[in-house]
Amino acid sequence: MDAHIDRRVMPRTIFSPVPISNSLRQHLGNRITSIRQWRGLIEEYHKWLPVSEKTPIITLGEGATPLIPADHISEIIGRDIKVYLKFDGLNPTGSFKDRGMTIAISKAKERGAKTVICASTGNTSASAAAYARRAGIKVFILIPDGYVSQAKLAQALVYGAEVITIKGNFDKALDIVQAAAKTYPVTLVNSLNPYRLQGQKTAAFEVIDVLEKLPDFLCIPVGNAGNISAYWMGFSEYRKAYHGQKLPHMMGFQASLSAPLVFESTVEKPSTLATAIQIGRPVNRDKAVKVKQDSRGIFAMITDAEIIQAYKLLGNTEGVFCEPASAISVAGLLKHRYEVPNGSTVVCVLTGNGLKDPDCAIQNNCAIFHKKLDPDIKEIVNVLGF
Ligand SMILES: *Cc1c(COP(=O)(O)O)cnc(C)c1O
Repeated sequence: MDAHIDRRVMPRTIFSPVPISNSLRQHLGNRITSIRQWRGLIEEYHKWLPVSEKTPIITLGEGATPLIPADHISEIIGRDIKVYLKFDGLNPTGSFKDRGMTIAISKAKERGAKTVICASTGNTSASAAAYARRAGIKVFILIPDGYVSQAKLAQALVYGAEVITIKGNFDKALDIVQAAAKTYPVTLVNSLNPYRLQGQKTAAFEVIDVLEKLPDFLCIPVGNAGNISAYWMGFSEYRKAYHGQKLPHMMGFQASLSAPLVFESTVEKPSTLATAIQIGRPVNRDKAVKVKQDSRGIFAMITDAEIIQAYKLLGNTEGVFCEPASAISVAGLLKHRYEVPNGSTVVCVLTGNGLKDPDCAIQNNCAIFHKKLDPDIKEIVNVLGF
């Protein structure tokens, strides 16, 4: 029966840590009971997305990222609090941006766009480049000179974007692309593009599909504040199928020197080693402020040192390598753990892959690194401690 399944292709079905209940099976049809190739989030969740028969689907199989139980972190926190990591760094270009980009580019293609543009701290440009080129669309990228990691820049170049670096920060780059998209025939694919958040909300669907309930808390990094708004939209829409369960408290974290939502004012010169969230003027600010209020959540700031501590902990104890901006959700949870009641279920969103920023990894780890030993068995065994 299975002969037609190509085993070289990893089936990316949603996994479930508990047996699939009859009510969920009924709700989802037989969608998650069979082993087959995941078709990308537009096809899988099309009923919930603004697409039609006419929409060309530009996909790289994004979505269906694992929800990983974080047993070590749960143990540190104690009190029967169960922590999960939504590892969105396992998307095709290594960040959650692919969720928004599959639909932003599909809709641009549907409307006959020939060119798209974005400003980026790195991950948006990698994702925009991949999806746009797959769709045969030209892509321009504006990035702040010197603040985008080599790995992210490498992606944009390999995917065939036209890259422009500017002597200015992300906020400035965004002003320029916004102005350009207003006047010229070029489609903006930053998170001001409403389709981006529509795609990103599917991460909340996946969390619910796997947990079979809504989490009590969601911890998430906040840069332009698009993703926190998208998760909230996803939870709000999808819970209707779950008998209107209580919505989670949304815990948004920003780096101390890059925390406009915490200070409630623009930060002119944002600075943090978590470059993906080095943003002083979040474009989705108003949405995110409302999410915080409606969810009775918090915005809080976390120092770079605390981010790195969580980054190392994730690698060293959970076996999860995420980028520094992502580790802030765990750093934030650890810092604010006493705001989480006993027995809660908490999901920390890990937005990007650790390989995105190898410099940070080489500089911040708990490894012991023995360098340039003689190729001699005695010397090596000595190091092994025998
Ligand atoms: C874009 C990005 C963020 C910030 O998301 P916003 O929607 O801008 O708040 C966080 N982490 C990573 C890795 C990102 O690429």
